[in-house]
Amino acid sequence: MRTDSPPVIKLKNYRQTPFIVDHVDLDVRLHETETRVHSKLVLRPRKGAKGPLELDGVGLTLHAISLNGVPVDEKDYRYKAHKLTLKNVPRKAFSLEIVQSCNPQANTALSGLYLSNAMFCTQMEAEGFRRFAFHYDRPDVMATYRVRVEAAMSLPVLLSNGNPVKRGRVGADRHYAIWADPHPKPSYLFALVAGDLACVHSKFVTNEGRKVKLGIYVEKGKEDRCDWAMECLKASMRWDEQRFGLAYDLDEFNIVAVSDFNMGAMENKGLNIFNDKYILARPDTATDVDFALIEGIIAHEYFHNWTGNRITCRDWFQLCLKEGLTVFRDQEFTSDTRSRAVKRINDVKTLRARQFPEDQGPLSHPVRPSSYIEINNFYTPTIYEKGAELCRMLLTLMGPQKFRKAMDLYFKRHDGEAATIEDFVACMAQASKLNLKPFFNWYLQAGTPKVSAKLVHDVKRKTATLQLSQTTPAPLGQKAKKPLPMPLRLGLVGADGKDLALILKTKGAVRQGFISFTKAKQDFVFINIAQRPRLSLNRGFSAPIVLETNASPDDLLFLLAHDSDNFNRWEAAQTLGRGFILSTMRALAEKRAVPTTKPYAEALRRVLKDSSLDPAFKALMLQLPPEAEIAGSSGGNADADLVVEARELVRREIATVLQEQLIGVLNSTPEIGPYRPDVEGASRRSLRFTALALLAAISPDAAFKIAEEEFATARNMTSVTGAIFSTMTLADPRREAMIDAFHQRYRHDHLLLDKWFLMQATIPGAQSGVRVRQLMAHPDFNFGTPNRVYALVGGFSGGNLAGFNAKSGEGYAVVADAILTLDGRNPQVAARMATGFRSWKLFDAPRRAVAEEHMRRILAKPDLSRDVMEIVSRTVNG
Ligand code: ZN
Repeated sequence: MRTDSPPVIKLKNYRQTPFIVDHVDLDVRLHETETRVHSKLVLRPRKGAKGPLELDGVGLTLHAISLNGVPVDEKDYRYKAHKLTLKNVPRKAFSLEIVQSCNPQANTALSGLYLSNAMFCTQMEAEGFRRFAFHYDRPDVMATYRVRVEAAMSLPVLLSNGNPVKRGRVGADRHYAIWADPHPKPSYLFALVAGDLACVHSKFVTNEGRKVKLGIYVEKGKEDRCDWAMECLKASMRWDEQRFGLAYDLDEFNIVAVSDFNMGAMENKGLNIFNDKYILARPDTATDVDFALIEGIIAHEYFHNWTGNRITCRDWFQLCLKEGLTVFRDQEFTSDTRSRAVKRINDVKTLRARQFPEDQGPLSHPVRPSSYIEINNFYTPTIYEKGAELCRMLLTLMGPQKFRKAMDLYFKRHDGEAATIEDFVACMAQASKLNLKPFFNWYLQAGTPKVSAKLVHDVKRKTATLQLSQTTPAPLGQKAKKPLPMPLRLGLVGADGKDLALILKTKGAVRQGFISFTKAKQDFVFINIAQRPRLSLNRGFSAPIVLETNASPDDLLFLLAHDSDNFNRWEAAQTLGRGFILSTMRALAEKRAVPTTKPYAEALRRVLKDSSLDPAFKALMLQLPPEAEIAGSSGGNADADLVVEARELVRREIATVLQEQLIGVLNSTPEIGPYRPDVEGASRRSLRFTALALLAAISPDAAFKIAEEEFATARNMTSVTGAIFSTMTLADPRREAMIDAFHQRYRHDHLLLDKWFLMQATIPGAQSGVRVRQLMAHPDFNFGTPNRVYALVGGFSGGNLAGFNAKSGEGYAVVADAILTLDGRNPQVAARMATGFRSWKLFDAPRRAVAEEHMRRILAKPDLSRDVMEIVSRTVNG
């Protein structure tokens, strides 16, 4: 057990640095085990600031240090506890030259400079630069960079940020390239790559007339998997010009795909580095979902060029300034390019699957936290996804024109700066003339607000009163929460399915389709409502809340069928589905007859038959809320097996009613022509495999016949994995045969091997932990590649409720073992896996006991990383 407690970093302790860095000059001599970096920092003291010069450095070897060309006397500096401290530095501008080295080969944490597949690459966010060279490794220190990269001739591609300046030879077997980045940037946006890579080139001309050379660098032989990424990059560049008036600002934009990468991708200035999973795609290697993810992530990283790079964060507490805003921007991009309703539903599904459990459990934190131990633990769904929701609410509150005006003001006022959430919200307030002070609490308060809504109709007065109340749960140790202002889009739906005119008794017509709910309790009285209407509230999920209404099942069935807001049609279906599963659980527990879902299934039948609807929307309508969400709604003491059993029963009953239509879907949508990753095709395929999965629940033989045929003949990965995943709930030799055949066919492709591990991790059932343990010992498994770990361990803890939460404890045990193995090697990935325990308190006492035992086992490891320590101790004690 660790006995020291690692320091807590607090927002209120933020101070500017006493010195300003104007320019950074780096000469990097790459070598596998000893890379030497000669750095020259051009510094000047900040007016009025005091204190020594104190630079960050972790695990570096210091070879030489000189100030204005004169070696620094040993008594004038000290390198201790990750700080290089210099005393007696001049009170005027000076240059500091340092020679230091690091060992990329030994870097298994994949933070700083490391080797992936024999290529050198970097990941500096959040605090990797200090593992590479001494620096003020914090986002508010922005400097221009000039970088000379020198490597062996066997690594022909040498890249860094900015524009290329010069290349040349060094002796017989080495060469170099010089890059200069004119845009001041913090160290976390620095990047460097050297490798024997293939490149796919293209061009883009900005709306300002700048000719930009585009390059995507990948492992040799993978050039034919870059077309989609390149197309998405150009589409993103164009969109940012059109929607936000933001053009690219360098002569080159390069992307490098690497196979060992802790996260999705990184927005380094002019040199994005990507997990290759989010670049490489060909119809026979990537699914529709992969293609969509690539599009979204390319867009996300590209959009960071303005929201993140040109304007960065003052400190890491402001992380959502760039992440929430950039997620919001990439969501908008996808909504403009694909179906807005489907995108919104998918984003809300993600929010509910990832952010709600975080916010409703021991790892809950505000969008802007005020303290942390390890910043890498705060790249969370709350910062990213809830942060994006806050931007979306601002857009709703002020409307598109004023929102755009506010964004323009933000770029004008803060370009080239490191900004805060206060700066951002001030621009929003100024452009909209709204008082956003109460809104600011959304950034400061953790927890998902609960809103109750009751609609009361008065026939005599012809009024409908919407009675709203809200609370935000305050877990032990947190302050009581203030009411939050939120825009609630709504409709009152008449008996003919049409929206009634919304006229408020006191304020007249409702403008822009939403009301502002700002108090703990508030009534809204609508007039001229002759008959009892149905309430469609929080349309488009205009506020990220948990909503409870007094709608009856009949009301919900009506909304499912008639609501003009497609999001709320889906929401009605989810609410009904959740209700049926929960009442089935109760019935099973009490050994009563389970309730019938017939009317619900009938309503879904009408949706399926409606030829005006997008097939992707129909697919979403047919999917029941995920198991984890049911566990979260079941009011504590959940029995994971019962959740899965009840959900499966409901699924089966729906499938039974819909059987004919499902077969109709499967017969009517064969693939026409060669596969293309287009929206329409993807939409058709998603309905097809949803139908197949439902059919599998009632007619295994019919489903296997289709799946096996599809698996044998399909040449696109969507159909191949669709076939397997559709039959995943069936314990059957035919499923196992397909899994084996998949390995046979694809084991030479690392991204497809990840899919092979993932599909097995999600095989439902309390026994599946045993299988995961066996797979962890499989020759193709390795702890060094984060994707592999995410697929098997993350796929299991996040996508297999009954398996991970098995009563036997085997699920918890195997994940805890993986975390302990990973901890010494890659703490960031280990900590990410540890978040798998975040919902442990939802389950019954026997499960909680085993979960706690395994978390305590993790905490007892000597030298546990602070990454894992922070997550697990918060989870256990929170
Ligand atoms: Zn980002």
